[in-house]
Amino acid sequence: MIYHQVSELIGQTPLFELNLPVPKGSKIFAKLEMFNPGGSIKDRLGKYLIEQAFKNQRINAESTIIEPTAGNTGIGLALAALEAKLKTILVVPEKFSQEKQILMQALGAQLVHTPSEDGIVGAIKKAKSLQQQTPNSYVPMQFENPENPAAYYHSIAPEILTEFTAAQLQLDGFAAGAGSGGTFVGMARYFKEKVPTIQTAIVEPEGSILNGGPQHSHRTEGIGVEFVPPFLDKKDVDHIFTISDQAAFHWVKQLAKDFGLLIGSSSGAALAASLKLAEQLPAGSNIVTVFPDSSERYLSQHIYAEK
Ligand code: PMP
Repeated sequence: MIYHQVSELIGQTPLFELNLPVPKGSKIFAKLEMFNPGGSIKDRLGKYLIEQAFKNQRINAESTIIEPTAGNTGIGLALAALEAKLKTILVVPEKFSQEKQILMQALGAQLVHTPSEDGIVGAIKKAKSLQQQTPNSYVPMQFENPENPAAYYHSIAPEILTEFTAAQLQLDGFAAGAGSGGTFVGMARYFKEKVPTIQTAIVEPEGSILNGGPQHSHRTEGIGVEFVPPFLDKKDVDHIFTISDQAAFHWVKQLAKDFGLLIGSSSGAALAASLKLAEQLPAGSNIVTVFPDSSERYLSQHIYAEK
């Protein structure tokens, strides 16, 4: 097959069985989203949001896209906007990975920084005020937009179920991290509809608020919420696992050493949570999780030196 546009390379990522000792002889499979052309799961979101915005006539060929983002969504949106020849302004809290910010700029996006201490809430406010000042601008607003979970409901979740069916595997458990919550919500909704017996687990770092713990900063990047995502429906959530930075980075290092798999810290947390989910499920269960990106975009943060 010969491809002609980078957006054609999005999706159909590998499903990888982790050859690890899993509690109760269960199995864990990870969808390797680093294989998307922009290097993360958010390529799926960027493509879907821009397609929907054109379809619903919220944008035209002269529009400017503005979005608050921790980084990967910005790369996904910049990629989709570039193909549609749209201008993109991304509002990023300063603390987030330099590698992601360099890539957003390489894809033609303009960056606006907000102070790290204002968190993602500060970036959201700034994006809304930029929208007021920019004629013909559109803010997809991943943190509120139901098209965010829909992007995963329509892409990665059906891919996984098709892959499980082809391999004659039953799907018993699903674990995914939450930043905006889009990945978890869209996938959990799809799986609950198609496989009602599935047990789902939402994954957050310590410092995120879903389990009622105090809010504080964390080193695990891409997941963690400062407010409950508005599209999160309790009936889609069977477990909430709060994972320490230490556990997340332990798995980042371990998977590099054991398998040559270069994963980001939110993937490490997803694996730690999948192992906890295995303890809650019957013996011999099959659990699927998502590895959203690769460690390469955190090298300047010394990801392999983290304790
Ligand atoms: N991991 C990484 C590396 C991410 O960039 C993101 C998105 N911020 C997530 C996980 C969480 O995805 P979502 O926003 O869909 O909850």
